[in-house]
Amino acid sequence: MATVTSYGAAKVVTGSCHLLAIEHGPRILIDCGMFQGPEEDRNYSAFDFDPSEIDYLLITHAHLDHVGRIPKLVKEGFNGVIYATEATRDISEIILLDSAKIMKEDYKTNFKKEQRRGKEGEVREPLYDEDDVEASFDLVWHYPEYDNSSLIQEGLKVTFRDAGHILGAAFIEITYKEDNVEQTIVFSGDIGNDNDLVMEDLEKCTHANYLYVESTYGDRNHKDIEASIVEFKRVIIDTLRDWGNVLIPSFAVERTQEILCILKEMHDRKELPHCKIFLDSPMATRATEVYNNHSDLLSQQCQDYKKRDGTVFDFEDLVYTPDVEGSRAINEVDTRAIIIAGSGMCTGGRIIHHFKNRLWNPKNAVIFVGYQAVGTLGRHIVDGARWVKIFHEDILIKASIHTINGFSAHADQDAIIKWISKMEDLYRVYLIHGEEDKQVILRSVIENALGKKAHIVEPEEVIYLG
Ligand code: ZN
Repeated sequence: MATVTSYGAAKVVTGSCHLLAIEHGPRILIDCGMFQGPEEDRNYSAFDFDPSEIDYLLITHAHLDHVGRIPKLVKEGFNGVIYATEATRDISEIILLDSAKIMKEDYKTNFKKEQRRGKEGEVREPLYDEDDVEASFDLVWHYPEYDNSSLIQEGLKVTFRDAGHILGAAFIEITYKEDNVEQTIVFSGDIGNDNDLVMEDLEKCTHANYLYVESTYGDRNHKDIEASIVEFKRVIIDTLRDWGNVLIPSFAVERTQEILCILKEMHDRKELPHCKIFLDSPMATRATEVYNNHSDLLSQQCQDYKKRDGTVFDFEDLVYTPDVEGSRAINEVDTRAIIIAGSGMCTGGRIIHHFKNRLWNPKNAVIFVGYQAVGTLGRHIVDGARWVKIFHEDILIKASIHTINGFSAHADQDAIIKWISKMEDLYRVYLIHGEEDKQVILRSVIENALGKKAHIVEPEEVIYLG
């Protein structure tokens, strides 16, 4: 009998890693993500399976919590074949190289700090380096297109379908034969919302015997995106009219492209007062390039922009400043600059420099458009801090602070239920990638509204399919 074991994203939202073992058949890993936040230490433990015995790695999408441990997997013996959409491969390279760079910088900083205390021997080495990342891309990769099934070996077929979450994201249908009976198991990865500005809608899934589904927002429905866009535009217009500047801390992949789309639309409709927009992030610049290269996978509006302008995101007021000189030159702009920079939670990156230069000015505004985790500088500001310490200097916050919550790349409860309701032959639903209190709520909705059995997967619990 086939089994699935979840080595991550079981009762938590990070570290996605699920092993499907088909009896007398191959061992297939679905995602190999990094644990983040309070779970971070788990990245440093050895895998609870032998990476060299994995035959296939299927990647749902390129977020760090789904791909972040792939170089470690390769370093520890994985030599199998990887399946991912081409866009996922391209975004993964950006994400993994950035992750290696951050770990290297953190290591250097911690080493120096501990050296002063004579404890440098206790500093943890990075999980992997840039060479390990490159080695992952030297393995054999296949790039399935959405909806085209790949027969990966006799009796084993995989189909990637558009998950509408970030560029290249897929939910994966795996069909295998056991005792001559065909079974289909679906792994959702992360599924997106309908009406996303940049991505296409989540595709329907009409057949599944078993479903592993994410439950990040299984307990709630999102605020209306339209209302959030109106609020976002209002802050921009009011601040610029008052000759202030707008700072937007943003994640490089997906949220930045959404923000660019809104600004481009404002520009098109002449809603945007005269200003300069700076995308001040080398990583977001690269990610935007990849989005532009794969524009055929994006929303109709993005495809229309590409057709009309030859580019999805560019317009005359937008300036990319990937290099340091360009970034520094932004400091010379006194008024009416919109600065989009990383990191998304203000834990590092260029946004910190812009905060130092502009948070003190009451004419300026900061717009938070993404989740801010506890313990980050972003969260500290969102929670109402009056002062922040930046580069050993106390800065009084006089800029106005705005939090806009309606942007989300994840399906909410209604969207998850609607998606599952279309699946025929569904025997059981397994909830992963969510916190337990939210999963309990989603489980009862699935059982009551859909009449399907649902189970909250425990870490390393072996689930027998059949
Ligand atoms: Zn994701």
